[in-house]
Amino acid sequence: MKKHDVIGTYKLPQAVRYCCKCTVSNQRPRIGFDAQGVCSACNFAQYKREKIDWEERERELQALCDRFRKTNGEYDVIVPCSGGKDGGFVAHQLKYRYGMHPLTVTWAPLKPTEIGRRNLDAFIRAGFDHVLGTPNGAVARQLTRLATQYVGDPFQPFIYGQTNFPLSMAVQHKVSLIMYGENGEVEYGGDMKNAERPTRDIQDHDTHYFSGLPPEFWIEHGISRSDLFPFMAPRYESILKNKTEIHFLGYYKFWDPQENYYYCREHTGFVSNTERSEGTYSKYASLDDCIDGYHYYLGFIKFGIGRATSDAAHEIRDGKITRDEGVALVRRYDGEFPKKYYQDFLDYCGITDEQFQEIVDSWRSDHLWQQTPEGWRLRHAVWYPEHLQGQG
Ligand SMILES: [Zn+2]
Repeated sequence: MKKHDVIGTYKLPQAVRYCCKCTVSNQRPRIGFDAQGVCSACNFAQYKREKIDWEERERELQALCDRFRKTNGEYDVIVPCSGGKDGGFVAHQLKYRYGMHPLTVTWAPLKPTEIGRRNLDAFIRAGFDHVLGTPNGAVARQLTRLATQYVGDPFQPFIYGQTNFPLSMAVQHKVSLIMYGENGEVEYGGDMKNAERPTRDIQDHDTHYFSGLPPEFWIEHGISRSDLFPFMAPRYESILKNKTEIHFLGYYKFWDPQENYYYCREHTGFVSNTERSEGTYSKYASLDDCIDGYHYYLGFIKFGIGRATSDAAHEIRDGKITRDEGVALVRRYDGEFPKKYYQDFLDYCGITDEQFQEIVDSWRSDHLWQQTPEGWRLRHAVWYPEHLQGQG
């Protein structure tokens, strides 16, 4: 299989550098580093703590809710929520603290886990109207296989639905406000143009979420337009006519995923997993899909950034662990192969172990990976002596 041009596709810097405050490197697409070697997510975390007037933001949130609240019984806000801690926090706050009438919506996981479904049921029982969007299972499988092969990300079809289904529900139910949790681009490193804004632009969806490939891309691989329909956004004119606005609660409220976990444990019946997720040390994030381990694993292959790197980086920024602790966790867990659902994943995609390993190797860029007699070795890691201080 031909090697992919990872640097060109994701516009990555050739020289790998690590943030001197957290564990992330400059290989995360769209992240920025300042002259002191601090990443944009760490700078944003500091800015959030020191500069933002949260009382003023609270008034802005009240005003936003007043602008959209309906009193005729109809829904007035769409909250995308898998039943996890973040969407659960958003929905519960909006409904029970701000008197909104949310319609919560979930795009079905490709292959749901038991714990994910259990948490979604508990969330609905805790007091929410809910719609589940489930695409044709045969098409979802076909798209997952194609996306794994061509984009190196089995999650691509899920991300289409996750991004576009709330828009479809907003248009269909004539609800103009969609409220997400955090803006991943500013919180975790990415395009900072929205750092000072509560909203996101629908025009950015292709670049920020779809790696530049919208659902229509797959037509040339034999998927019909009608099969792709549930994965697509509504027509742009209907989004505009509906006066649709996408907001992030993380702009209005200090966003702390661990606090959301405690909140949902108390209010929406959320439970964490009994064991840590493979590839990291955490038990309460991204639990819904048997496939997600392969999304994170391929991210590790492409960017050298695994699930533990991201989890540790968030927790360092939130002041929960030190950088040294984070580095140790990355060393221990990052890049661990997700074995638990491997056969399920292969069966779901209809590929063999050899085919998957070939796909994996096609995404190993020479600037990150080196072949040694003992197997593949990362040329750079945050725990290698030369990077311990975050130097390049
Ligand atoms: Zn950082």
